[in-house]
Amino acid sequence: TAKSRAPGGVSVFVPSMRREVQARTRLADELRTALATDQLVVLYQPIIDLETGRVAAVEALARWRHPERGFLTPDAFISVAEDTGLITALDMWVLEAASTQVAHWRKELLDDEPFSVHVNVSPVELRAPGFVDGVVDCTRRHGLRPQDVYLEITEHQLLGEDALTRGALEALREAQIGVAIDDFGTGSSSLGYARRSFVDEVKIDRSLVRDLDVDPQQFRITAAILVMAHAFDLVPIAEGVQTAGEAEALRQLGCRYGQGYFWGAPMPATALERLLR
Ligand code: C2E
Ligand code: MG
Ligand code: MG
Ligand code: MG
Repeated sequence: TAKSRAPGGVSVFVPSMRREVQARTRLADELRTALATDQLVVLYQPIIDLETGRVAAVEALARWRHPERGFLTPDAFISVAEDTGLITALDMWVLEAASTQVAHWRKELLDDEPFSVHVNVSPVELRAPGFVDGVVDCTRRHGLRPQDVYLEITEHQLLGEDALTRGALEALREAQIGVAIDDFGTGSSSLGYARRSFVDEVKIDRSLVRDLDVDPQQFRITAAILVMAHAFDLVPIAEGVQTAGEAEALRQLGCRYGQGYFWGAPMPATALERLLR
């Protein structure tokens, strides 16, 4: 954060920190405008069923078409959104946009095939009053089934699980909305914990997937996580798959789903639609 400790425990701002605070305040103002004027865009990355090669789901990922700074990725604005409370509006905007899109695909291309959209939610959002009702309401309004929507929550966010988070996870389970642990393997939580937390899926972080076909240790770790995932009835999704070798090794290890540049980077809805056809 923007404070540093002076001797004697007094907090002081140094000029570079002041500039940073100003920049973040300005970014927050711009983000508020962006949300109101449709500067945000949702990209979709395919999630592939490794047995059939089909696109089984998509992950919705936010981008910001900033009027001066161009196309921004989430690392440029999610933390500011979290610090200012704008994340609630942002996450709901993404959920709304993604639901609209998937309802369209379901009607035009998919019939009754299993297909879902994964939306990232911030822990702040998960604990907000009325959040679960908002998600359920959103799926209903768009004529989606609860199974069509999954929420992704990062591992370290679940680690600090408190009563509010737990209540939200239970309510989601009740509403049949799936939950995936995102970036699994970057923190120190166990999959047993995930099971108790009413989680349905585990997304294995790309740091564990990288080179797993050529790096024996990497292979053993991911293999062990997959054994555990299966034991706990958690459906695994490998993230960050970039090569055919990684994809094949995952398939042989019984990993059900994969996601990564090997099949496609996050792309506009029109491009994803071509993959679905
Ligand atoms: P994430 O949920 O783990 O999403 C996966 C990230 O990995 C995406 O980055 C994606 O572009 C990137 N990726 C996918 N395949 C590959 C690959 O093969 N190699 C490499 N190196 N990277 C790959 P992105 O889109 O920049 O998003 C970063 C993070 O920002 C997301 O990580 C998620 O935690 C957060 N985020 C994105 N959209 C939203 C949103 O609408 N709400 C919230 N709360 N967070 C979001
Ligand atoms: Mg995610
Ligand atoms: Mg992830
Ligand atoms: Mg991530």
